Amino acid sequence: MIEVKNLVKQYGRFKAVNGISFEVAKGEIFGLLGPNGAGKTTTIRCLLTLIKPTSGGIRISGIDALKSPQQVRQRCGYVPQEISIDSDLTGYENLLMYAKLYHVPVAERTQRIKEVLSFIEIADRANNMVKTYSGGMMRRLEIGQILINRPQVLFLDEPSIGLDPAAKRMIWDYIVRLREIFHTTILITTHDMLEADELCDRIAIMNAGQIAVTGSPDELKDVLGGDIISIVIKGNGENEKVLLGLGYQLLPQSDNGSYDLVVRNGDNAIPQIIDKLKESGISVQSISCKHATLDDVFLKFAGKRMGESGSSFRATQRTRRNIVRLG
Ligand code: ATP
Repeated sequence: MIEVKNLVKQYGRFKAVNGISFEVAKGEIFGLLGPNGAGKTTTIRCLLTLIKPTSGGIRISGIDALKSPQQVRQRCGYVPQEISIDSDLTGYENLLMYAKLYHVPVAERTQRIKEVLSFIEIADRANNMVKTYSGGMMRRLEIGQILINRPQVLFLDEPSIGLDPAAKRMIWDYIVRLREIFHTTILITTHDMLEADELCDRIAIMNAGQIAVTGSPDELKDVLGGDIISIVIKGNGENEKVLLGLGYQLLPQSDNGSYDLVVRNGDNAIPQIIDKLKESGISVQSISCKHATLDDVFLKFAGKRMGESGSSFRATQRTRRNIVRLG
């Protein structure tokens, strides 16, 4: 349903997207992950035909996006991170506005709105002002208004950001049901590793304009090939050199100062590691072992953990729903 070949988007000499290729099958939920500035939004904007790529090919549902942008737009829906509903209108009025924007024939409008209201389960609140909705209901309405156009491909930018865990789960359920009921192909960008793990059939991790790795969440975790032993060391000696000498894969050091080693049968290896570090004059403050997560995969391929150096981004985004409700 989505085919991207050697996509490049250049601003001056800078390549925001630097030769990426990937395909997404019909009905697949595909995640585009990466640190701030990796090139995710630029990629999505190219796919949505909002900006013109410098080179490369894009086909959506078999249609060449560069030659027939209008046809591609008719088949796509985009739910941005930014507020896309009017809190001074009712849920019904927001949906009606979108039905008009998408030129849904007058005779079909009422039925389509009814269908969407039922799908997003806010039919009983449809005539209430949106500013009285919870954050989760608002996000459902934002997705709902795009569904009015029955898109074949749906782009969701941070679908559950700023929502509490229960509302998050609810949004994830809707996304999965969308695929089941309408066979919609869904591309999501997210900074939430749990969301990516739970929702996505496959994931591409982008870094500096390129795709570092693609695979299912399980395949990606297997790439690491073991458990993660996190070690916090007292003092700043030649720790890294000694740790590398242990013969295990050392992940980039995270902001919390721990060193993470990828080790098969991590629990068994801990006593040996402590002994070897002791022999090298390094004293361990704490050591722990856990199974590799998508977050560890992200650290390996993006060079930092999700959220690191992006905390200001997260804080900004968390306020998003509050702003809507004040409206
Ligand atoms: P985030 O997670 O913060 O949304 P992103 O992965 O979506 O990041 P992009 O917004 O695609 O990243 O930006 C990729 C790079 O391209 C960044 O360095 C950004 O500053 C740069 N960039 C994006 N748009 C433009 C533009 N119009 N002119 C110049 N540079 C741009």
